[in-house]
Amino acid sequence: MTGGGYALRLRFGAALSGPCMRCLQPARPETVVDAREVDVPGETDDDLTSPYMTGEVLDIASWARDAFHLALPPSVVCRADCAGLCAECGIDLNTAEPGHHHERGPDPRWAKLRELDLS
Ligand SMILES: [Zn+2]
Ligand SMILES: [Zn+2]
Repeated sequence: MTGGGYALRLRFGAALSGPCMRCLQPARPETVVDAREVDVPGETDDDLTSPYMTGEVLDIASWARDAFHLALPPSVVCRADCAGLCAECGIDLNTAEPGHHHERGPDPRWAKLRELDLS
C-alpha cells in the first residue's frame, strides 16, 4: 500500500456439520470466509486499523476465528428449502409423499360443550 501499511485478505472454506435444525438429518453446509483487514500505522480511524495487528505482527488465529464466526449461517439446515418434520407425526416431510397432512379432529373443547344439555 502507498504510504505504508497493510491490506490483508483472508479466504478459506469450512464445512460445518451437525443436525439440520428442521429435519434433524446430518447437515454439512459449506461456509466460505472472505475477510479483509487494512492496517495503516499511526492511523486512528477504525477502518484503517486492524484489531488483529500489533505493530508488524498479525494475529491470524484470532482473525480467522472471528471471521469464521461472522460468516457462519444463522442456523444449520441440510438445505435452504428443507421441509422439516411434520408437527403432527414427526415424519420427515422431505421424504413424505407430497401434500402430507392430517385431518384435524374435532376440537376437544367443543366436544365438552356438546355434552351439555341445553334444552
Ligand atoms: Zn433438513
Ligand atoms: Zn404427519
